[in-house]
Amino acid sequence: MAERFVIFDVPIDKVNMKQAVDTVEKFLSEDRLHMVATPNAEIVMMAQKDPEYKEILNKTDLNVPDGSGVIFASKIYKEELPERVAGFDLMMELIKVASAKKYKIYLLGAKSDVVKAAYLNLKRQYSEIDIVGFHDGYFSKDDEDEIIHDINEKNTDLLFVALGAPKQEKWIYENRNKLKAKVAIGVGGSFDVIAGKVTRAPEIYRKLGLEWFYRLLKEPWRYKRMMALPKFAVKVLFSKKPK
Ligand code: UDP
Repeated sequence: MAERFVIFDVPIDKVNMKQAVDTVEKFLSEDRLHMVATPNAEIVMMAQKDPEYKEILNKTDLNVPDGSGVIFASKIYKEELPERVAGFDLMMELIKVASAKKYKIYLLGAKSDVVKAAYLNLKRQYSEIDIVGFHDGYFSKDDEDEIIHDINEKNTDLLFVALGAPKQEKWIYENRNKLKAKVAIGVGGSFDVIAGKVTRAPEIYRKLGLEWFYRLLKEPWRYKRMMALPKFAVKVLFSKKPK
């Protein structure tokens, strides 16, 4: 495994997209659950106020650098992360690999019409894809055993969990001993994008590292959460270089 860049006690693997995909493929060949997270500046800041979340992010098998904030931090600390590996992009790359190699996929999360539309869109786009099941993300504790039973019974290899951060990582961690999938990865709002309910920032914004700005324009009500970004940048600039 490549080295890790640790920012405010949250480790991030120094992987590019290809290395991230190769690592997940290796996980898929091993007979245990592997947890994958996609820390961005917002998640790193959430973890500062939530020790349980921080601990979970230290126990995952792979943390990919999601977001220009963490790339910026790695440059300041002279421990450069190779490139941004956005959770959504990683999910789409894994979908391609899984379709070619017949890995079994399960989608858990988002509203029921959204996850269904995401399922149908993926089936339409990737004729070889093997999605063994899907379930919305608005379930109660009482439904959990039944959902996990469904995931396991269908021999899921790759479980995408779209409950938003930190809920998705906490859910995966809490159920790590019950889940028989090989890989579980938290993918935030990705099902909404695949379902066509939310559009991603045009490439120019992504290239300039301004996806967050596009999101602020589109979803201004998120500004409170997004205040984490400037706070993160200030914290990076004023903190000492970690050992
Ligand atoms: N969600 C869910 N169950 C919940 C809360 C949220 O399934 O109890 C879904 C929500 O419908 C959306 C995703 O989780 O599809 C969160 O998207 P968001 O863009 O907020 O993700 P984040 O930025 O937190 O990663």
